[in-house]
Amino acid sequence: MLVDRAVRNWPPLLDTRIQFAPIALMSVCRLLLFCFAGLIITRELRAESAAATHEAERDSRGAAAEASITFSSVHVDGPYIAMTFDDGPSAALTPKLLDLLAAHHIKATFFVIGENVAEHPEIVARAAREGHEIGNHSWSHPNLAKTSEEAVRSQLRRTDDAIKSATGVRPTLLRPPYGSITAREKRWIHDEFGYQIILWDVDPNDWKRPGPAVVRTRILKETRPGSIVLSHDIHPGTIEAMPSTFDALEAKGFKFVTVSELIRMAVAQPPHTSPRTGESVPTAITPAPSPSPASSPAG
Ligand code: ZN
Repeated sequence: MLVDRAVRNWPPLLDTRIQFAPIALMSVCRLLLFCFAGLIITRELRAESAAATHEAERDSRGAAAEASITFSSVHVDGPYIAMTFDDGPSAALTPKLLDLLAAHHIKATFFVIGENVAEHPEIVARAAREGHEIGNHSWSHPNLAKTSEEAVRSQLRRTDDAIKSATGVRPTLLRPPYGSITAREKRWIHDEFGYQIILWDVDPNDWKRPGPAVVRTRILKETRPGSIVLSHDIHPGTIEAMPSTFDALEAKGFKFVTVSELIRMAVAQPPHTSPRTGESVPTAITPAPSPSPASSPAG
């Protein structure tokens, strides 16, 4: 009886299996297709997110590259500072300053004006020979932000050539007169001349000739490790201020290096707030001083 039923039921059972087999196969195929599509989408998403990550990295590298072009101070791990002297050489004053620097075993950086280099190449040659760094400060001290690209190129090229001819080496630093330079100029000048753009974080306003005591007091008050100190070796009061300024800075434990040496000492700094200024400035870039030469002939 049971066997009978089984035998009787067999064909319909078989029929059902035959009917369901293609459906099951289709379902498996659909499932496989689904999984495959899912895999492809996941891979595309991953590729997209990797691309986004690369883009972000590229952006941050761009910002870092921008930061590495301009310096007004350097984050260093030690009491190192750079004294810089602009607008020379001066036949009357620069040799006196060189004597003084030699006596103190101090290496400084001179941002020279091309016209003056052409007039006194021997002073620039001596400064370089004695271990000081020579930087480009333009040919005739124009406001670069208000000067055409061709004229800027000529100002820098002529001065670069004059420095090369006096010292045998080309400069790698530019200090724009008045600290005035556009972001676009920074980029093309860096690309074309390889210059780093050097501003400052200590400005005693010595060009206003406030007297040696004031120059010294201002420098001592503002100078910190990593500072780039701006002064001018064309003002007698500045040269007069230097012996006691050097003594006092040395007494505070500061060590003097050239600007390029200071930059080579740069250490990483947390990207948020600078302990000194509270500004978001990794290895430099504090705002340039006023670009107006009439009201602020610094630099
Ligand atoms: Zn200047």
